[in-house]
Amino acid sequence: MTKKHTKPSRGKLTVIAGPMFAGKTTKLLTLFSVLSNLGYSILCFKAEAESNGGMGHTRSHDERPLPVIYIRMNEPEKILQYVGRDGIKKVIIDNINFFPKDRFISVVKSLLHRGIDVYLNGLIYDYRKQEFGATKSLMKMADECIEQFSICVKCGAKAAHTERVSGGTELTIGTTGKIKAEYIAVCSDCHQEHKG
Ligand SMILES: [Zn+2]
Repeated sequence: MTKKHTKPSRGKLTVIAGPMFAGKTTKLLTLFSVLSNLGYSILCFKAEAESNGGMGHTRSHDERPLPVIYIRMNEPEKILQYVGRDGIKKVIIDNINFFPKDRFISVVKSLLHRGIDVYLNGLIYDYRKQEFGATKSLMKMADECIEQFSICVKCGAKAAHTERVSGGTELTIGTTGKIKAEYIAVCSDCHQEHKG
C-alpha cells in the first residue's frame, strides 16, 4: 500500500483511567518499556500539582521509575514545544487529570493531528467523586480505553473512587511535593468526602 499524500495520518489515542492504586502508572511503564524495546523515540511527561520544573522519575506504587519531563499543571501547551523537536512519534503523559480540561484536550488533538500516538492516564474522579480534568472526555475520544480499578480498602469490593484521608481540601494536592495528601481506593458506597 502506498501513500500518495504527505500529511501524516492521525495518531492513535490510548487512555488509561481509574482511581489511585489501580496500576495506571504501572501500565504506562509497561508501555514505555515495550515501545522503547521496539526502538520508538518516546517522550514521557507528567502533570504536576506541585512542579519541580524539571526532569525526574515518576514512580508507580511498585516503585519502578519512568523518566519524565514534569509539566506544570497550568502549562500543558509546553508539551507541544518538547514534541516539536526530534521526530517524536510516541508520547506518554502521566497524571493528566491535573491539566485544565479544555486546554489539555486541545494539546492532545494537536499531537494526534501531527501523527503522534498518545498514551495517557488520569483519574476519572477527584477525591470528592467529581469529574477530574479531561480524563472522562478523553475516554470518549480514545481509540483504546483501558479502565482500571482497585479494591476498596473498607469492604473489598471493586473500587472506582479515591478517598482523601489526610491533607487539606484543595483540589489539586499531589502525593509528592511540599504539600502532601494521602489517599485510599474505595468503592462508591464506602466513599466519604474528606473535609480537611
Ligand atoms: Zn467499599
